[in-house]
Amino acid sequence: MNLKTIIGLEIHVQLKTKSKMFCRCDNNAEGAAPNTLVCPICMGMPGTLPVANEKAIEWTLKTGLALNCQVAEFSRFDRKHYFYPDLPKGYQISQYDRPFCTGGFLEIDVAGDFKKIGIRRVHLEEDAGKLIHRGNATLVDLNRAGTPLMEVVSEPEINSPQEAKIFMQELRSILRYLDVSDADMEKGHLRCDANISISIDNKEGVPVEIKNMNSFRMVERALAYEEKRQKEEIEKGEKIEKETRGWVDAKGVTISQRGKEYAQDYRYFPEPDLPPYRPSKAFNIENLKQELPELPALKRKKYIEMGLSIQDAAVISIDKNMADYFEKVAEKVNPKLAANWVINELKSDGILNISPEDLAALLLKIESGEVSGKIAKEIFAEMRGNGKKPDEIIAEKGIKQIGGEEELVEIIEEVIKENEKTVADYKVGKKEALGFLVGQVMKKTQGQANPQLVNKLLKEKLGEN
Ligand code: ZN
Ligand code: MN
Repeated sequence: MNLKTIIGLEIHVQLKTKSKMFCRCDNNAEGAAPNTLVCPICMGMPGTLPVANEKAIEWTLKTGLALNCQVAEFSRFDRKHYFYPDLPKGYQISQYDRPFCTGGFLEIDVAGDFKKIGIRRVHLEEDAGKLIHRGNATLVDLNRAGTPLMEVVSEPEINSPQEAKIFMQELRSILRYLDVSDADMEKGHLRCDANISISIDNKEGVPVEIKNMNSFRMVERALAYEEKRQKEEIEKGEKIEKETRGWVDAKGVTISQRGKEYAQDYRYFPEPDLPPYRPSKAFNIENLKQELPELPALKRKKYIEMGLSIQDAAVISIDKNMADYFEKVAEKVNPKLAANWVINELKSDGILNISPEDLAALLLKIESGEVSGKIAKEIFAEMRGNGKKPDEIIAEKGIKQIGGEEELVEIIEEVIKENEKTVADYKVGKKEALGFLVGQVMKKTQGQANPQLVNKLLKEKLGEN
């Protein structure tokens, strides 16, 4: 029996437009008192009319383009009916059979293997309000009702929980590059539902939907749990039920929430209060394409060509600020050296009070052999503390600079003279003798020389290039 895991994701993204999707209410509800950012439209009062937020549509098209989708010739909003206390109209304005974007893909990097995951559609809808449970009472807060919500639906082409997590991380990265959402999963800006099934000998399996995954870790853990559960059922000869399950993080399990008998009939029909759209006429799609920033996948490839390892390229490209910073430093110094410093020294506390120009100035001193890596780290710590430039710190602290090769060569010659026996050992093939000599030079320079340069010059002096 050949079992294969098949996962499709549906991701809801809160767009960070200034106003809500169909009214002028402030869209930033963070920290606002309940029901203060509302109006008759987003409270669903009878007789009100929605007006679509143009920015939200533009951002949806941009996201679709970034995900290699086609922009629809013809598109419209539809009403999706269901009853829930946080949905005042009794329906959600969404899109059914005419989404704004279809047929794209997202490329993910699974430990150096690049894989394209199809994107079925990207559409736009409105968010519902929030229910707050207090003892026996349930309170309704409609601040979030009407927030623009973009829905990204993948094809069922994800084959492991790990791939699902990477897909989510890559999507978050793209959304942040596009600056259309804060895309913080913990804050609910990015919400993920998954369909997971196990195919048996290439025969389609029964999909189970999982909800309530609020972090990347939860996506991976919930899917791993469900993958194992379904495989065990199949191996026992049991049938998988088509159902919706919720992830209970504290217990590390999924539990059945509702079976197929509760399948909803949303009675979709075209929203009569909003005109249909021809997005490719309303927007200049070529311009939107031109406005897309260089996206993480492209940066990753560029960095690998610049000589970075796959891991380093991935770490830097996932975060736009870090990528921009790295590129400025790498303009002036060896990209590998720049990457090392940006990842190891900067990442821990973000970016920071040191300009890329100042960091590049410091790294240039390492490259030229003017200061050693060790001393550079001390200078760097000072820079971080007081924001001064490397040259100021060197002057202030009286750090002795080992000028150039000439000065080093003198010291090397001294060391060779003082260590005749070790030199002789080296010349008859005791390679470890070189390490001792390098150590002696470093001692004489009080650790301020560049060890690679000392190594190179010593070998030259000892007659080996
Ligand atoms: Zn409103
Ligand atoms: Mn939806």
